[in-house]
Amino acid sequence: MKYSPVQNFISGQFTNASTAKNMQVVSPVDGTLLSTVPMSTAADLDVAVTSAKAAFKKWSATPIKERVQVFFKYKTLLERDLVELSKLVQEENGKTYGEAVAEIEKSIELTEFACSLPQLVTGELLEVSRGIECRTEYVPLGVVASIVPFNFPSMVPNWTLPNAIALGNCLIIKPSEKVPLSVGKIAELLKEAGLPDGVLSIVHGDSEIVNAICDHPGIEAVSFVGSTKVAKIVYQRATSNLKRCLALGGAKNHLLVLPDAIPGMTAQNITASMSGCAGQRCMAASAMVGVGDVDHIIDQLVAEAKKVIPGDNLGAVISKESRDRIEAYITSAEKQGAKILLDGRKPNVPGKENGYYVGPTVIDYVTPEMDVAKEEIFGPVISIMRTKTLDEALAIENANAYGNAASVFTQNGGAARYVINNASAGMVGVNVGVPVPREPFSFGGWNESKFGVGDITGKSSIEFWTKLKKSTTKWNPEAGVNWMS
Ligand code: NAD
Repeated sequence: MKYSPVQNFISGQFTNASTAKNMQVVSPVDGTLLSTVPMSTAADLDVAVTSAKAAFKKWSATPIKERVQVFFKYKTLLERDLVELSKLVQEENGKTYGEAVAEIEKSIELTEFACSLPQLVTGELLEVSRGIECRTEYVPLGVVASIVPFNFPSMVPNWTLPNAIALGNCLIIKPSEKVPLSVGKIAELLKEAGLPDGVLSIVHGDSEIVNAICDHPGIEAVSFVGSTKVAKIVYQRATSNLKRCLALGGAKNHLLVLPDAIPGMTAQNITASMSGCAGQRCMAASAMVGVGDVDHIIDQLVAEAKKVIPGDNLGAVISKESRDRIEAYITSAEKQGAKILLDGRKPNVPGKENGYYVGPTVIDYVTPEMDVAKEEIFGPVISIMRTKTLDEALAIENANAYGNAASVFTQNGGAARYVINNASAGMVGVNVGVPVPREPFSFGGWNESKFGVGDITGKSSIEFWTKLKKSTTKWNPEAGVNWMS
């Protein structure tokens, strides 16, 4: 085993869970056993909540300009350790080194945003009648929790962690049991940056800990990122316990391609979107809808996708189960009558035979009833449907249950605006394959891609991680008595 067993992080210390039950952490790159991760119990969570509650009093009373100093330092530490952090992400998640570097760079950008929070949470003050002032302040919630998925071991924890903590909360993170190593490094760096003990806790485990988080009376708010199936469970359970909850789920993102799209640029963007991070991004292109004659663009798409080589510029998928599930989708499309233009099943990856790889796959003549058209595949697979009109293409996009992202490729501004207006997705791109809003803009989908109000990053996250205190003051006793008295 390459690393020592993963431990929880409570009261500023790495500590064993109360159970010996654990799971293996295996690198998808080549099947190496990296570590084991404990399956903590509700009792372990309770210890973390008690520690976080104790830390909250002092942390919430620390002025925000002081609190963000920790994140200015943390940013420089992320930069200092970029190579080490990127290698760890690559090892535990299977993405390419370049993708892992991009993930850490995004974590840095998220931290920069948290450093700017004092400028955004100044509140409001107005003299509402003579000598009487109304004021609003953003007040932290208390102990809050963040449950995260496997596909971004550093970035998704950094969606929630810097903002929730800079805004004065104490945060408990439940990492994905498939990639538990990077979050431990994050805790080490935050400790080095001066974060007081108890402000951040890590409790590892599976659904037992997730359920315990949703049920714990000491936790005020829960954010979740993962599949729609689990997002629904978490949202229902947390809100039924009267907690604030924002639960981001899965996705099925459509790219609408018009005949006037620039062929080379479009083909490159679609390829990057469907195969980046081996298709394991909630913003990945999963379906393409060609409007009219786009055969020339599809030809270039296949040529571009052929340049994507498993084990080289295409990383692994997370597990054997994922690989088998993705390959089964390709087989189902074949059986249901689609045409496989490029087949990524069972690729030959010299030297990495024990890793979990699927090659880039382009499936044409898919119809909306097929499984590959409806379901999230979460692999490097694009399913192409064809329509005669833009409205028919939008109808296909609108009919899908999810609503994270949609993009249109065209040179026609009117058509682009029409898609922005009519796509049923929270994030829309024009000639952009992965339309992730960058800070200070907020990230979040619609429909079955998100349950709860507001978005998880950027300005919108301020509303989620705080509550408003409204105060009314009068310091002029000579003022007359009126209805406000
Ligand atoms: P997942 O839903 O299986 O797991 C997410 C978290 O939930 C993990 O921490 C896991 O331990 C926990 N969990 C798993 N099963 C559970 C259960 N039955 N009850 C309670 N908790 C449970 O997701 P994943 O496979 O880790 O990640 C991939 C999914 O995440 C994809 O669907 C992807 O689209 C989605 N995702 C969405 C976004 C977004 O912004 N919408 C971002 C990243 C990933």
